[in-house]
Amino acid sequence: MSEGARVESERPKVDRKLRFHIPAQTIFKQDAAERVCNWNEVTLGFADDGAARTEAERCIQCPAAPCIKACPVQNDIPGALWELEQGNYLDAANIFRLTSSMPEVCGRICPQERLCEGSCVVGNQKRVPPTPPVRIGRLETFVADYQRDNGGPPKPALPEPSGRSAAVIGSGPAGLTVAEDMAKAGHRVIVYEAWPKPGGILLYGIPNFKLDKSVAEAKIAYLEELGVEFVCNTRFGVDISLAALQEEHDAVFLGHGASIGASAGLQGEDLAGIYAATDFLVRGNLHGDELPDDKREPVTLGANTVVIGGGDTSMDCVRTAIRLTTQAGGNGKVSCVYRRTEAEMPGRAEERNHALQEGVDFLFLEAPSRFVGDPAGYVTAVEFVRMELGEPDASGRRRPVTIAGSEHLVPADTVVMALGYWGDEPLAAGLGLNHKYGLLAVDSETGATNLPGVFAGGDNVRGADLVVTAIAEAKRAARGMLEYLAAEVAK
Ligand SMILES: Cc1cc2nc3c(=O)[nH]c(=O)nc-3n(C[C@H](O)[C@H](O)[C@H](O)COP(=O)(O)OP(=O)(O)OC[C@H]3O[C@@H](n4cnc5c(N)ncnc54)[C@H](O)[C@@H]3O)c2cc1C
Repeated sequence: MSEGARVESERPKVDRKLRFHIPAQTIFKQDAAERVCNWNEVTLGFADDGAARTEAERCIQCPAAPCIKACPVQNDIPGALWELEQGNYLDAANIFRLTSSMPEVCGRICPQERLCEGSCVVGNQKRVPPTPPVRIGRLETFVADYQRDNGGPPKPALPEPSGRSAAVIGSGPAGLTVAEDMAKAGHRVIVYEAWPKPGGILLYGIPNFKLDKSVAEAKIAYLEELGVEFVCNTRFGVDISLAALQEEHDAVFLGHGASIGASAGLQGEDLAGIYAATDFLVRGNLHGDELPDDKREPVTLGANTVVIGGGDTSMDCVRTAIRLTTQAGGNGKVSCVYRRTEAEMPGRAEERNHALQEGVDFLFLEAPSRFVGDPAGYVTAVEFVRMELGEPDASGRRRPVTIAGSEHLVPADTVVMALGYWGDEPLAAGLGLNHKYGLLAVDSETGATNLPGVFAGGDNVRGADLVVTAIAEAKRAARGMLEYLAAEVAK
């Protein structure tokens, strides 16, 4: 970091009252009519450097900094924003990098409204009119992108090779984070990935209009420069065993995510034209040569696409569908069907609004009861049953209750099941790992599993969650692995 980067006690006191009057800066987005005709990121960011610096100045540098506590990786947000407002963009980016392996990703797709920005003191003032929180996510993106465009993250002088080696299963945010921390400590790292390219859900899930693929690709290139090796098209448990990995490596990290798409278990679910969410998203967002052979056939949408589910994955599916139908010159209808009401929808309001602006229809209080097909085996309709809300369930949300006799058919030529993701139970059970429904039990301090030298973190421990929580888990597991390897060397 340059001499400009200052710890909190060295930063001059700011005039907080004055800062409350600095106007929030506009974050530009592509218009809805324009963006459905391309796959580019919807959010464009601040007008220029000056606007980003002014937005950073809205941070009142409060000593309590609840934004840090609300961040799963505890980024020093006031410290980074101070450097940004001084124009020290690289220092600001490096402050984020002290605690996060992917500020360029988290800045774009973290649900900041319930993390850092949700706890921002500026946004939580009881003022009329209300003051928006400092737009921390977009400022994080701004400095991380500036750094990517100006030489990339610093490449540390690597220590002498340790002679030790780590295997990493899965190349999503968790696996990449562990790979980076292990490589920087001088260990040899090989990442084994089932898909043809590394990146996990950053590549094979999250659409380009939220996160351009070049962001994940730049991260992989950086890791390759650190010496990390990637072995793709290799499924752990099928193409390579734990015993083989333990033969070659001194420690193993399992970062295989929670990628088993939940099914509804309904009659007709195997009809042609019905896709699991990931199978649909990858066909829409990637080229055939980036996909395994069985997923290369492109999706062609007809008059009615129905996406079932109300979370963020569902929003990614409907917005992918809108782009596919618009860009094919069609005007197919795209509907999102959810069994509760909008108030209970689990995903981000911002994503829902994006979908609404782009022309997606929402049907609430409807649950699928079966799928109907034609004689050739293609889906033609979904039978839904109407629901009403009953008492709250364990999640605190009101439970949907079926209204008897309300079954009705909704025409559909494509259906996407976006019902959530599960852990890989057969894999966990087959390895003898302690787990619950495929989610691995790990030591809360070190990420160690019940098998010696085998660590885990990310969605395969927490269940389907967030990029930033996967990074936090992986950081903890990397520390555990480094201690484990150091202890092994000392033996
Ligand atoms: C469609 C979608 C949209 C999302 N949007 C957001 C968002 O906007 N913001 C956000 O914060 N989070 C979002 N998430 C969640 C986020 O992507 C995950 O929480 C995060 O990627 C988890 O990281 P991970 O490394 O644990 O797992 P993953 O990213 O799932 O990576 C696991 C990797 O392991 C590989 N793998 C699995 N099994 C094996 C095996 N047996 N052998 C070898 N490799 C294997 C997989 O192919 C994958 O590459 C989204 C998730 C989805 C599905």
